[in-house]
Amino acid sequence: MTARFSFAIHATDGRARTGTITMKRGEIRTPAFMPVGTAATVKAMKPGDVRASGADIILGNTYHLMLRPGAERVNRLGGLHGFMGWDRPILTDSGGYQVMSLAELTKRSEDGVAFKSHLDGTRHLLSPERSIEIQRLLGSNIVMAFDELVPTTSTREVQASAMERSMRWAKRSRDAFNAGGQHAEDNAIFGIQQGALDEGFRKSSADALIDIGFDGYAIGGLAVGEGQEAMFGCLDFAPGQLPVEKPRYLMGVGKPTDIVGAVERGVDMFDCVLPTRSGRTGQAFTRQGPINIRNARFAEDQGPLDPACGCPVCATWSRAYLHHLVRAGEILGAMLMTEHNIWFYQQMMADLRAAIAEGRLTAFADDFRSRYAAGQ
Ligand SMILES: [Zn+2]
Repeated sequence: MTARFSFAIHATDGRARTGTITMKRGEIRTPAFMPVGTAATVKAMKPGDVRASGADIILGNTYHLMLRPGAERVNRLGGLHGFMGWDRPILTDSGGYQVMSLAELTKRSEDGVAFKSHLDGTRHLLSPERSIEIQRLLGSNIVMAFDELVPTTSTREVQASAMERSMRWAKRSRDAFNAGGQHAEDNAIFGIQQGALDEGFRKSSADALIDIGFDGYAIGGLAVGEGQEAMFGCLDFAPGQLPVEKPRYLMGVGKPTDIVGAVERGVDMFDCVLPTRSGRTGQAFTRQGPINIRNARFAEDQGPLDPACGCPVCATWSRAYLHHLVRAGEILGAMLMTEHNIWFYQQMMADLRAAIAEGRLTAFADDFRSRYAAGQ
């Protein structure tokens, strides 16, 4: 019988690791990139095509799904897997980040966050207990603890008090998770380290989470405008404060070079809207850096988006055709650009896993960065 959740590290190279998370719904090869399926869809892609790109797991957003179509409704319709037609693992965020960035008239208290829906103005409360309940109703396989976010520009006092409240909420999240519920045999829970860029705050947060005990640990509160150098500065110590034998997930990251640098610093999991959102606006990721396919220089370019890409889009269609589709606002343009970008990210993760396994990560990462920068 497959365990509920296990993580095996197969090889390390410096601080980087490659391994496998095993869950009942399938294996997740790490380092892993999770395409974002905000509203029960990875925008512009069918689930079978997401899987064909090499994705082992996708992400769903609690905040969006609780408002539309509603967690109870998704549950009545068989949970997120059956509803959207994706049978492999799904991770859901706790809704904390989005309620604090998208909702209107939010009111925070020790209990949770009261807010008005940005869709129809209805009033809701998101608390640690309600967030865990929603994630269970959705059928999530990796449930995230509910936490509090504050801007990186906040004072140290505000940062410290948000981190401390997040740790109290992490305990309430864990207790709600332990109380059981639907799919209890089929899901795991991750805690989220906070503490902005401060090494001491990060350490206090890590220690509080370890004391509670989680299946995996996320690094939250980064990639919110602090810049790559500051983020890497934090990642020079934050992953090492978390248990070596558990997966480490850097939330909301990021650009290709962010991911390569974070993998070198010991991170195992990532999610970001960048490949899907960029695809819809005409940006393609390539090994020579990002390109904007709308640019006039591609109007008669018969080459593929990226000559080194193994995706179905690059095998079939030219830059000139994609330039035409995107300029004409054709739906197929958004679909094909998104598919290529998701493949680019998954191929990058596969290359990173192979480089770690073969002990040549530094050479791979340096080569990746120099090619990527050359085209920018
Ligand atoms: Zn491609």
